[in-house]
Amino acid sequence: MEKYQQLSRRGFIRAGAIGIGTLSLTPALSALALNKPDKKLGIAIVGLGMYAGGQIAPALQHTQNCYLAGLVSGHPTKAAEWAAKYNVPSKNIYNYQNFDTIAQNPDIDIVYVILPVALHKEYTIRAAKAGKHVICEKPMAVTVKDCEEMVAACKKANRLLSIGYRMHFDPYALELKRIYQKQVYGKLKAFEAANGFFYNTDPKAWRLNKALAGGGSLMDMGIYTIQAARFTTGMEPVAVMNVRQEKTNPELFKEVDDKVFWDMEFPNGFVAKCKSSYSDQLSSVHAEFERGNVDVKPAFYYNGNKGTTPDGPMNFPPVIQQTLQMDDFANCVKINKKSQVPGEEGVKDMKVVEAIYRGLASGKRELV
Ligand code: NAD
Repeated sequence: MEKYQQLSRRGFIRAGAIGIGTLSLTPALSALALNKPDKKLGIAIVGLGMYAGGQIAPALQHTQNCYLAGLVSGHPTKAAEWAAKYNVPSKNIYNYQNFDTIAQNPDIDIVYVILPVALHKEYTIRAAKAGKHVICEKPMAVTVKDCEEMVAACKKANRLLSIGYRMHFDPYALELKRIYQKQVYGKLKAFEAANGFFYNTDPKAWRLNKALAGGGSLMDMGIYTIQAARFTTGMEPVAVMNVRQEKTNPELFKEVDDKVFWDMEFPNGFVAKCKSSYSDQLSSVHAEFERGNVDVKPAFYYNGNKGTTPDGPMNFPPVIQQTLQMDDFANCVKINKKSQVPGEEGVKDMKVVEAIYRGLASGKRELV
């Protein structure tokens, strides 16, 4: 982490030495970057739910390039409790109605949207229009069209957009990618990924409401298996096939999918087999190479992931993926560099998700 910080600081010293023109920063971005070269950027969280409270706010206590500066919530009491806990001034607390006035708040550089999926588009676009850079949680939105509108809105507002795929900062996912790219055990022959958890809580929860969630386990958990296959191989699936679903509890899952199974076909004919579920505890990637298998299990946890290779266990010190993710994005904002997890990543995954839903309806192979 210290090395990372030094690097970004050195980048700024160099930027000062070579002059701002060569950095091709836009006027708005250069003002932001120059005003805050060594300062932490302020992040405002929109939606103070489980993920925000359990992972993101705690991860922001360890960031070097950004800090928790603002809160956006529909619950004033909850916002006040958070503000006291995280030392957020009351002037930086917003609700969903006055959110747009965040435009006038120089403390806030980045808005992190951690709401039910159907609200991602509205708050991403409002944040960009308010002049803020945006991190939006996965799945990016309920349709590809919405995702594309979000990318276009951020582009138009000249703001950076990133999707909360923390996997890009998980050492196990990075190691699997390296093993694939370097062909450490030869070429990849087979790839299977599964992600799921037991969802048997409140039937009124937004995850079971199609209008708010867009879909079920496929959108919520399966999207990480799509990311894993795309991230590891660097290839884009061209079609999905053998798509099917099961519902363990049709009453609970009357609006959204429960278990979904699908194969993704890549341009070279390579097929990845994936599974998502709201009725199983699943978290694995199994990759078969010419000279042995690599298994990551659990593969998608916040921490505690484990991996084995033909040479023995993978061994990495623990990291806070979200801390690395937010620090990386804040650094991108500072140096006006596109995020390594840009909005387009969310668009690409949603194209696969939509093809899978078409496959569930048609029972046929569907092009992505
Ligand atoms: P949650 O239900 O715990 O939190 C949602 C928040 O949105 C709550 O604070 C709720 O009050 C607020 N909200 C505002 N308008 C709402 C409405 N109309 N209906 C319901 N809630 C409303 O959900 P969560 O588990 O924190 O998930 C939020 C987002 O974070 C989702 O997009 C989810 O996929 C994503 N997430 C990502 C990861 C990851 O590993 N990247 C993990 C968990 C969740």
